[in-house]
Amino acid sequence: MKIKNISILGSTGSIGSQTLDVIRKNPNLYRVEGLTVNKSISQLLDQINEFKPKSVAIFDDTAYEEFLTLVEEKVATSPYLAKINVYKGHEGLIKIAGSRTIDILVTAVVGMIGLLPTVEAIKNSTTIALANKETLVTAGQIVMDLAKKHQAKILPVDSEHSAIFQCLNGEESNKIDKILLTASGGPFRGRSRQDLINVSKLDALKHPNWSMGQKISIDSSTLMNKGLEVIEAKWLFDVEPEDIIVHVHPESIVHSMVQFQDSSVIAQLGCPDMRVPIQYALSYPSRLDSDFERLDLFKIASLNFQRPDLDVFPCLDLAYRALREGGTSATVLNAANEVLVEYFLNDKIGFYDIPKYIEMAMNEHDFIDQPSLKDIINIDAWTRSYIKNIIN
Ligand code: NAD
Ligand code: MG
Repeated sequence: MKIKNISILGSTGSIGSQTLDVIRKNPNLYRVEGLTVNKSISQLLDQINEFKPKSVAIFDDTAYEEFLTLVEEKVATSPYLAKINVYKGHEGLIKIAGSRTIDILVTAVVGMIGLLPTVEAIKNSTTIALANKETLVTAGQIVMDLAKKHQAKILPVDSEHSAIFQCLNGEESNKIDKILLTASGGPFRGRSRQDLINVSKLDALKHPNWSMGQKISIDSSTLMNKGLEVIEAKWLFDVEPEDIIVHVHPESIVHSMVQFQDSSVIAQLGCPDMRVPIQYALSYPSRLDSDFERLDLFKIASLNFQRPDLDVFPCLDLAYRALREGGTSATVLNAANEVLVEYFLNDKIGFYDIPKYIEMAMNEHDFIDQPSLKDIINIDAWTRSYIKNIIN
């Protein structure tokens, strides 16, 4: 395999650092061209020393200035630092993503901030290894149309979507009957609404099977993560909302399944380790050797499946509603959720305020059926200020 140039949006996060681990284990196959972070500059510095990227971008203004000072101090002992390009802000992310010399852009930032950089890469026909699901949720139609136009591959990193993608290998001419999308159920599986009214962020951050960034951990506790994934699945695999069936599967061993027209169900299984889908997105269509833990079904012994409780987890229901409505509904759902999760993480609102205010924003917004990219950015901004006005 020819050596591939990789850039990572969000290199210091959970997905970003696991991507670098896959690259670390396969130095003859991949080299790092660009890295971007929000604020974690000391971790970025370690990554620069190890992976020697050509360019980096730092989103946060203050962190960017601090980084420049740090570079001045360290350049005597790390001369490589003098050679790298350092960019700032959203423009910087777009610059890194839009480089014509990268083969794969790994989108591992949190939130719709990844949208314009992803669009920029797609316009160059760069392959996208997509972890940043919010991009597809907020602007699925536009992103997929653009990818088709520029023949850019979008390879899923999300474990469920990687599973579905693997189940579809060689099935191009066969009709999908249903997608059986699995969900761990998060830290509050089996709890009642009454139990959850006063839960804190610390309870919500305790995920049973996966260690992830804060935003997706909260999304997992509300099942909004599964809602976002239902929408992501619609765009990646072109299925109707009613044909995506969420199965709560506490063991997180079956990563998802596809039922075909003849009734056969194909599943992809494995131990929960995000490096597996990350590596597959980087090596596709090949598979690489790995030392990742092997599945021992004798030890696991039983696999369980349940229906999600939409009364306890209304966010999942709201996501289905957004998908059925189409247009800008999912943009509002996503933007409201991003802001509300931030408020919940800052102890400003309660657990059930998240679905309550998302629903209000969805009801109040000026719906556009076929939004342009500009419409999406405007509706996203409207939603954020609508929510901020209500909470403050
Ligand atoms: P995280 O919070 O651990 O990491 C986010 C990364 O993005 C960090 O490097 C941070 O510095 C950077 N970042 C944040 N805001 C930024 C900004 N405005 N500009 C530039 N960089 C910014 O998040 P994560 O858990 O790795 O999740 C990343 C994405 O992957 C999310 O969309 C999430 O839904 C998706 N995802 C994550 C997992 C997982 O296991 N963590 C699984 C599936 C999908
Ligand atoms: Mg997932």
